[in-house]
Amino acid sequence: MPPAIAPAPAQPGLPILIVPDQRLKTRARPVGPADEAKVRALVPQMFAAMYAAPGIGLAAPQVGALLRLTVIDLMEDDKKHPIVLINPEIVAASEELATREEGCLSLPGQYADVTRPARVKVRYLDETGAKREIEGEGLLAACLQHEIDHLDGVLFVDHLSALKRNMILRRLAKERRQAREG
Ligand SMILES: [Zn+2]
Repeated sequence: MPPAIAPAPAQPGLPILIVPDQRLKTRARPVGPADEAKVRALVPQMFAAMYAAPGIGLAAPQVGALLRLTVIDLMEDDKKHPIVLINPEIVAASEELATREEGCLSLPGQYADVTRPARVKVRYLDETGAKREIEGEGLLAACLQHEIDHLDGVLFVDHLSALKRNMILRRLAKERRQAREG
């Protein structure tokens, strides 16, 4: 997810996949013990790509790694608060819903209001393999749900009506075509 106010400059380093890349629609598999070295190498690269974008969340499928791994940093108070979530699972969600504007580094420049549970509790493993839980509301709740959706091949536009989704996808395709044509 990009921050609320975000011009998106070119991304150095690990490239972020853009819709309609099929890897963004693919369900990622759980991280297992055999993935330890891969995850250790991937996490700093994902943070670098996310901060450079700039973004506040990035899921492994967005850089072509189909693993249940995501990184988040809301950059509150303009300071870094990096969180690594391995095999994250939403274990509780509020009945109360909240609507906020979302964007996605895989749909650059596109934003829409998305309605989701206002609060969620997420169980995950941190980068040391320790079991952790995080509870979020507001931006954190939206970001957690948005990033975990990526692990199931779900994009924020999939929460919109087909009409709105197609409008955004067509606009993105047109803007990218125009950018290529210079
Ligand atoms: Zn996203």
